[in-house]
Amino acid sequence: MILPIVAYGDPVLKKKAEDISKDYPNLDALLINMFETMYNAFGVGLAAPQIGLPIRLFLVDTAPFSDEDLSEEEQMKLKVFKRVFINAKILNEEGQEWAFNEGCLSIPDVREDVLRKPIITVEYFDENFKKHTEVFDGLIARVIQHEYDHIEGVLFTDKLSGLKKRLIKGKLNKISKGEIDVDYRMRFPNAKKKR
Ligand SMILES: [Zn+2]
Repeated sequence: MILPIVAYGDPVLKKKAEDISKDYPNLDALLINMFETMYNAFGVGLAAPQIGLPIRLFLVDTAPFSDEDLSEEEQMKLKVFKRVFINAKILNEEGQEWAFNEGCLSIPDVREDVLRKPIITVEYFDENFKKHTEVFDGLIARVIQHEYDHIEGVLFTDKLSGLKKRLIKGKLNKISKGEIDVDYRMRFPNAKKKR
């Protein structure tokens, strides 16, 4: 089932999300629905707050990025990287910050360069509640960092300079009101009620 994606301006996107337990109700169905929702919108990641749930859960599938102009080795890695992250914690970020042009399913049509460190160590549980501690780099780390920010209540637009923020303010306002063309299902916090 395709779920509506919550748009910029909804308070759930600003909330620090909570850990879940193994017994979280209907987790399997939730994961299936979230993957379907993400693929439908051609996303490479989706976090639970983006479908209105303030829980520490996000998905990543970097296959669409494997078309980018990258080494064959990196392309192969991206093609098969599909993962569920539950109760994730970034333990370490290292290396020289690099810029990448990010977008977000909750903020359609806005893309900006964001600086992040290239190598991260993440502790998380997978969909079977098996615990992992893993090091990621490159675009995979980038997507994880973006999704991780969602469960911390942070959006990539929060990381922009004051000037950039002022420049996109009008656009963000429009998005929150639903005054935007988007070809996937969304829920807008400030949409005028239809009669
Ligand atoms: Zn996002």
